[in-house]
Order: sequence, then structure tokens, then C-alpha cells
Amino acid sequence: DAQAKDSLISVYATSNDSEYRRNIVLLSAFGTALEDGASLRLVYQPRIDLGSRRCVGAEALLRWNDPTLGDVSPAEFIPIVERTTLAKPTTAFVLDTALRQLAAWQACGVSLPLSINISATNLDEDGLVAAIAAALDAHNVAPDMLEVEVTESAMMENSAQSLARLEALAATGVRVAIDDFGTGHSSLAYLQTLPASVVKIDKSFVDPLDTDDARSRTVIATMISLSKKLGFRVVAEGVETVGAVDTLTRMACDEAQGYVFARPLEAQDVLPWIARFNGDDQMPPLPHREAA
Ligand code: C2E
Ligand code: MG
Ligand code: MG
Ligand code: MG
Repeated sequence: DAQAKDSLISVYATSNDSEYRRNIVLLSAFGTALEDGASLRLVYQPRIDLGSRRCVGAEALLRWNDPTLGDVSPAEFIPIVERTTLAKPTTAFVLDTALRQLAAWQACGVSLPLSINISATNLDEDGLVAAIAAALDAHNVAPDMLEVEVTESAMMENSAQSLARLEALAATGVRVAIDDFGTGHSSLAYLQTLPASVVKIDKSFVDPLDTDDARSRTVIATMISLSKKLGFRVVAEGVETVGAVDTLTRMACDEAQGYVFARPLEAQDVLPWIARFNGDDQMPPLPHREAA
């Protein structure tokens, strides 16, 4: 249709020839993947509270294993897909899958808040807030169990209307997080005006904690303390070492997420992982593995 053709043209306009061909192949295959759903799944990366050292949530991340293309990284397909009309069904799939899983864990007696990632273009049209409310309702999940991550740069590009939609979302009780914080170069004064309650500090600010570069330590320590003073909950992303965990704990960062704790986990591995990590004898008996 005309709209799909427009999206292809806009992808073409910003790509060279071979990129263009790869993008067309990816878009077409991803469209099929969304229709049958069989090659798409979510994986879940634990979020750890640094004060209590307990798992307090997880981020749902999309995975695509195409029968012919193999594993394609979201870092490759999301930037292409989100510029097309496929952005909406992609987020619908993620929302439905995440909430279905959340409800299943809840039925096992485990209350695990989840965050999902959305694209800037999801905020370009009406319907997102209603779709989220409807999905929460359908799966009987409370709004405060869901967090929606939007990148800092996406928030900066957004129109007043998109921001109003984000505000409407926050008003429903769903938490909004600013993802990849620090890469969008917005001012904290601007961030303060956003309807977000969580900032996720980008990995690029966390990595230098493993060096003895004093200036980059000062930068992240300042980001953490200013964000907290502005009332945000602060999460460090991409934490890979025990040393960085210790430094972030000393800097009073609220939460951390990264390979040092866990890689993104397959759905059936999440509850066993949490039980082991939290060392919690009070955990209800684990259900046996079910097909994802
Ligand atoms: P993000 O939302 O900032 O997610 C964090 C990325 O860092 C994930 O990559 C995660 O697997 C990776 N990561 C986590 N801890 C570590 C670590 O300690 N070291 C390293 N090197 N990497 C770590 P992933 O899953 O490949 O996703 C890449 C990006 O794709 C995401 O960045 C997000 O922007 C986008 N994305 C993923 N799933 C979705 C989705 O369902 N919807 C949308 N709109 N975007 C998604
Ligand atoms: Mg994210
Ligand atoms: Mg991020
Ligand atoms: Mg990222």
C-alpha cells in the first residue's frame, strides 16, 4: 500500500545501494515474522537493586531468529523497522508477549515488574496509551508493574503532542524511563520537564569505571546525584564488572543491569535465576519448564 511504499522510500533515501537491498530483505522478512510470530520472542535481563542486592525487575528485549537470515540483532532491525508502519505491530507484539509472561509469573506467585522498549514513532500517533491500557486490562496486570523505556534522543525529537501522550501514559500509573541517558545531550533542566520517573544511564558512562580516569568517574557520579536530586530513580546499564558494581553502589546508584549479573535470559530461565540470585527460601515452588 501507499503508506508502506512511503516507508520504503524514506529508508532508501538515507541508505546506499547495498544497505537498501539488505533493508528491503529485512523489512519483508520481519513483516512475515510479525504475522506468524514464530521466529520472534522476548528475553529478559534482570535489574538488581544495589541497596538490597535483589532482583527487582527485568527488561524485555526482542529477539528475532529468522528461518533464512538466522539471528538478527535488534540493534540492526529496530532502527529500520521503527521508521515504517511495522513500528506499531512490533510494539503490540512486545507489549502482549511481555504482559502475558508477567501474568504467568504472577500466577506462580512471583511479582516481577517488566520494562519494555518503545520507538519514538510509537508516539507519533494516537492509540499507544489506549493500547497499553487495553493490554494491561486484558492480562489483568496493574499499571505499576509496567515500565516503558524511551531513549533520551527520541524524547528530544518528539513533538509537544508526543510528549502529551507520554504524560497521559504516566498518568495511568505506567512508569516512563529515559533510556540511553547521557547520549542525547539534553540538559537536566529539560529532563526535569519530562513525565519520566526513571533514568537509565548509558553503558558508555559506565565502562570508564573500570579505568582509573578520574574525570569520567566525576561525570557519572554527578549524573547519578543530579538525577536523584531531581527525583529520578537511577539505573546503570551495561555493568560488566564487580568493580563497577562496587563503585556504583558507593555513588548511591539505585539499580544496575548488565552481564556481571546476568545476560538477557530465556523466559523459562528467569524464575530459577531469581530464586538462586535472591537466595530466597520464601520463593513459592517453581513451576516446571513450559514451552515458550
Ligand atoms: P537498550 O534498550 O539500551 O538495551 C540494552 C542493550 O544492551 C541490550 O542489547 C542488552 O542485551 C545489552 N546489554 C545489557 N547488558 C550488557 C552488558 O553488560 N554488556 C554489553 N555489551 N551489552 C549489554 P540488545 O538486546 O541487542 O538491544 C539493543 C537495542 O535494541 C536496545 O537497547 C533497544 O534500543 C533496542 N531494542 C531491543 N528490544 C527492543 C524492543 O522490543 N523494542 C524496541 N523498540 N527496541 C528494542
Ligand atoms: Mg532499554
Ligand atoms: Mg539503553
Ligand atoms: Mg541502547
